[in-house]
Amino acid sequence: MKLAEVTWPDVEGADPDVALLPTGSTEQHGPHAPLSTDTIAAEAVAAAGAEAYDGSTVVAPPIPVGIAEEHRHFPGTMWVSEDTFRAYVREAAASLAHHGVDRIVLVNGHGGNVAALREVAGQLSRDGTAYTVPFTWFDAVDAPDMGHAGPVETSMVRHVAPDLVQEDRIGEAVAGASDGWGEWVSGVNLAFDSAAFSDSGVVGDPSGADAERGEALLDAAASALATLLEAIVARDPPEDLER
Ligand SMILES: [Zn+2]
Repeated sequence: MKLAEVTWPDVEGADPDVALLPTGSTEQHGPHAPLSTDTIAAEAVAAAGAEAYDGSTVVAPPIPVGIAEEHRHFPGTMWVSEDTFRAYVREAAASLAHHGVDRIVLVNGHGGNVAALREVAGQLSRDGTAYTVPFTWFDAVDAPDMGHAGPVETSMVRHVAPDLVQEDRIGEAVAGASDGWGEWVSGVNLAFDSAAFSDSGVVGDPSGADAERGEALLDAAASALATLLEAIVARDPPEDLER
């Protein structure tokens, strides 16, 4: 049930216990993929995961601006501070809990949001608001070549929103891409910004990315999310832990 497309009596009638809150980003994804890549992916995975688990699961509208200052050199990129993001996600999740939802999965599409989401989820779970866990789709599927706007994300967008991929700019994306994320010395990434190591903003090679792989990635992520939903619904919330 996509919250944005139903009415309050629909929600009252369904009386849902489980909700998915997608979190994305509006940030550069190379010259070829849309700024909304992470949000599009998070929303698609949440919708498909809800369908795979139980159609009545609430899918909240996505939070489209996240922690993405590392892409600030590329026009169009937006971001908020970590404090603002944490507070916004926490309060948005708490409003779902207010209506009786007691299990929430934060379905995330952006690497920069991961640490903050883990913290927010822990807080909501421990204080009894709702048992909340973060789920970052590309960490739940087989995607060793993840990169940034590389083969994994470009495949996903080619499947979910193919019109938004600028096919005539793939060459430019590849020419300015780096092989890996950052500049590492002694286990430390010396680069704070993507512009320090990638001319086009891309990490990896998007040229071989196809919609077929995107469909397989979406299916795998949806199935992993459905499994996670089963697990947290069956599990006692952390607030019940006694020792
Ligand atoms: Zn991305």
